[in-house]
Amino acid sequence: MISFVGAGPGDVDLITVKGRRLIEKADIIIYAGSLVSCGHLDFCKDGCIRYDSSKMTLEEIMDVMEKGWRKGKNIVRLHTGDPTLYGAIKEQMDRLDELDIKYEVIPGVSSFTASCAAIRCEFTLPNLSQTVIITRLEGRTPVPESESLELLASHKSSMAIFLSVGNIDDVVEKLKAGYGRSDVPAVVVYKATWKDQKIIRGTLDDIADKVKSKGIKNFAQILVGDFINGKYGRSKLYDPSFSHSFRKAEK
Ligand code: SAH
Repeated sequence: MISFVGAGPGDVDLITVKGRRLIEKADIIIYAGSLVSCGHLDFCKDGCIRYDSSKMTLEEIMDVMEKGWRKGKNIVRLHTGDPTLYGAIKEQMDRLDELDIKYEVIPGVSSFTASCAAIRCEFTLPNLSQTVIITRLEGRTPVPESESLELLASHKSSMAIFLSVGNIDDVVEKLKAGYGRSDVPAVVVYKATWKDQKIIRGTLDDIADKVKSKGIKNFAQILVGDFINGKYGRSKLYDPSFSHSFRKAEK
């Protein structure tokens, strides 16, 4: 069996129990060495063969998987955060389908929720936003025009922006245009849950300068929106005057 496993954002304890057990049983592990904490490899059994995918092409990765699978090995493909976000797993899965090789996907804690937890916030708040937009600035990977940062920001939802801190000036300019104001709260979380995690707080007015002065160029989430410190309404779920299927309203 081949298992695509979400390693979580960094802290090795933020992997699922299922993911950890698969690592413990793996004969072969292919891990994204650029972002996955190498602490996960301490859980591999003796003799487990390790490959750092940051030095490999898709073809080389697939070759390791196919040969291992044909020998009946347990194979873990360890991706950072949650594999379904910016994981480039689809191209691997499609090739496995072509070869009629079975696989499964084990979810993980994404860096965007880990970052929101690190600043002790909630993305979805009554009267403020009930939507989170997960996106990135166009880089070498193109982004469809209909998903431009400016257009997405015009919804004034909570936003988590991946892979873009290296172009923070560009990000901020587009967000200001989209939100239509520059006092929108923004936080950059560098290496969420790692020992050297950094949190930089500001608004669209000053976050770019703050981030650049700390020398942060990658490995960070940009969280933006009034969920960070805006005024919200209390929930209906825990409102004494509100009934739902598990609780009757107080008189
Ligand atoms: N699948 C991953 C994202 C991979 S893309 C996930 O779910 O988190 C890589 C990008 O994710 C980085 O450029 C950065 O924007 C973000 N990222 C990954 N780990 C991070 C962490 N620990 N702290 C902050 N951002 C992180």
